[in-house]
Amino acid sequence: AVRTRFAPSPTGFLHLGGARTALFSWAFARHHKGTFVLRIEDTDLERSTPEAVQAILDGMQWLGLTPDEGPFYQMQRMDRYREVIARMLEEGTAYYCYCTPEEVDAMRERARAAGLKPRYDGTWRPEPGKTLPPVPADRRPVVRFRNPQDGVTGWNDLVKGPISFDNSELDDLIIARPDGTPTYNFCVVVDDWDMRITHVIRGDDHVNNTPRQINILRALGTEPPVYGHVPMILGPDGEKLSKRHGAVSVMEYDKAGYLPEAMINYLARLGWSHGNDELFTREQLIEWFDASNLTKSAAQWDPKKLNWVNAHYIKNTADAELARRVAPRISARGGNPEAVDLTAVMALLKDRAETLNDLAEGALLFCAPFTGPDAELLQAHVDDDARTLLADFAAQARALPEWNTEAIDALIKSVLATHGVKMPKLGIPLRVVVTGRKQTPSIGAVLAILGRDTVLQRLAAV
Ligand code: GLU
Repeated sequence: AVRTRFAPSPTGFLHLGGARTALFSWAFARHHKGTFVLRIEDTDLERSTPEAVQAILDGMQWLGLTPDEGPFYQMQRMDRYREVIARMLEEGTAYYCYCTPEEVDAMRERARAAGLKPRYDGTWRPEPGKTLPPVPADRRPVVRFRNPQDGVTGWNDLVKGPISFDNSELDDLIIARPDGTPTYNFCVVVDDWDMRITHVIRGDDHVNNTPRQINILRALGTEPPVYGHVPMILGPDGEKLSKRHGAVSVMEYDKAGYLPEAMINYLARLGWSHGNDELFTREQLIEWFDASNLTKSAAQWDPKKLNWVNAHYIKNTADAELARRVAPRISARGGNPEAVDLTAVMALLKDRAETLNDLAEGALLFCAPFTGPDAELLQAHVDDDARTLLADFAAQARALPEWNTEAIDALIKSVLATHGVKMPKLGIPLRVVVTGRKQTPSIGAVLAILGRDTVLQRLAAV
């Protein structure tokens, strides 16, 4: 059965690249009815924080990328790593190396000077018939992996196709530090092995680690998983996506009013495609995500397209559901979501909104404290002629048998006809007096939602 994992290092928030990797691993597992594992790679004690762990969990929850197993924490697996290191020492696939970092640096320098790739020279690597140097008394050794020296290590990458490295290019990697703590590549290997991961989907910044990890897995007597390395996400200017390009934390997009379902749809298209489909549901993504259409070239972040996708999801979300999601955003802006039929407001605004925040801002027209139009606006747009029109409109509005958009639109038309003037003559003063703004959505609908009492009160106040 397929088992994938997302293995973030908790050193910050869940960023867009990480979210995309998590999404691919999740979708691939779901497609194959497999298992999606979450593993927190928290061994870098200086950079890992509990807040960052929480931010990753929050981001995944927001996106609906629920792990089937985990989170597992590498810091809780130290005994296991030590056990595997002991076993490798015993089996001879790893060995103690007593060189100091300075000595290793000097070796690298010598190699470089000789025109070779800088590398550890194998001083402590055991070979049949070789005598090792005497063990220095007061020095604690590192443990190195005994990497094969001949041949090539390769794999057929899910994304990039066949990749191979000459083993002669790979150093004998340090797998445990002098204090016995395991190193990064080693923990990944033991975890992927123990967690029976079948497919590793991760960023292509890890391509150079892969041959080392494969060799260690083989030394442990197991076959490596399938690897797929996805290219990074670039900013609109072609540079690696970073803070410079705006928000890179997934939760910033929640704050800015993006729907998680739109984020999933948009992120999925960054490095994956299904024909010309730009819009698809979570279910379709799962149905289609078989890793055959992962793209080799780097994907480019396109805020305009994200907005377009988000607008689509807003349009296709039920009015009542939008109202539920937008209400807290209205409160946060000083409006009272209870003061209005929010569902009707959503119906009015949703075709032109790109984000939930657009909807919240738009809804304030109906439910923010109203202090009347400001004097300048009033003076610029409401002259005596306008007052005559408004008075006539108010009188008839009071008498309208029904208060709804159609009836109000019809009344506006009739007032215009009676006075022989065009729409702006009444439309603008009406907007200014009743909403304090020169521009609003369709005025009939706005007045209908505001309610007759409110409209008449405001008309009477000027
Ligand atoms: N912890 C690594 C990172 O956050 C990922 C390791 C992996 O996927 O193998 O970049």
